[in-house]
Amino acid sequence: MRQMMVAGNWKMHGSVAFTSDMVTTLASKVVIKENVTLLVCPPAVYLAQAAAAAAHSGVHVGAQNLASVASPGAYTGEVAGFMLADIGCQYVIVGHSERRALYAEDNEIVAHKAKVALDAGLVPLVCVGETLEQREAGKAQEVITAQLDAVSAVIGVDGWSQAIVAYEPVWAIGTGRTASPEQAQEIHAVIRARLAELDAGMATAMRILYGGSVKPDNAESIFSQLDVDGGLIGGASLNADDFARIYACAQTK
Ligand code: PEP
Repeated sequence: MRQMMVAGNWKMHGSVAFTSDMVTTLASKVVIKENVTLLVCPPAVYLAQAAAAAAHSGVHVGAQNLASVASPGAYTGEVAGFMLADIGCQYVIVGHSERRALYAEDNEIVAHKAKVALDAGLVPLVCVGETLEQREAGKAQEVITAQLDAVSAVIGVDGWSQAIVAYEPVWAIGTGRTASPEQAQEIHAVIRARLAELDAGMATAMRILYGGSVKPDNAESIFSQLDVDGGLIGGASLNADDFARIYACAQTK
């Protein structure tokens, strides 16, 4: 049985007060189960605070992005993977569709960032997913396979063994339009099969999260699918009650 994960991507939301409130509320409200990882990904400036508040609570902390450069240097505004690890982050999201679309991060950059994250001792949550246009053109599987293959070429089986995949159909992110459980399962199975072409054991163990308008009332049906191992949650992760309820749904699998 694979470990489940429920991860919250706060995006560019939060404050000092919100961070301490959210982490302490989650730590007290949620009964953390060993087989379901609970992760919060606040903006970079609140990571150290979140990591301190989460210490010994079972709540894990991850970043939303990292620099593509591994070593210190003249890279104004960037945050390195080793710095994230230094302040207590264990995970980092790479390849989120907002970074692909708004910051021109292509498959090669995403793959490189996944490698930099692994080298810094972080677990990359590698996001893949198709746009509505690509889905309607019948290209969802082709797009996702290309996104995976680019990462495979750089991190290989060993890297994937330390990583997590998040399937996030772009048309479902922040739109209130969720993939049906069957649509999610179909693509999750494609992802696992593609990874199995590299290594069957790695693919079987891979955690594949679904992301895209997951809410307390749809989480259970999505998480119940065979190849869905939890969720990457945006909007609903900003509400402690909703996020706790989504976490509870992952425990029922
Ligand atoms: C996300 O941004 O990763 C996401 C899944 O957002 P939402 O849950 O708001 O659709």
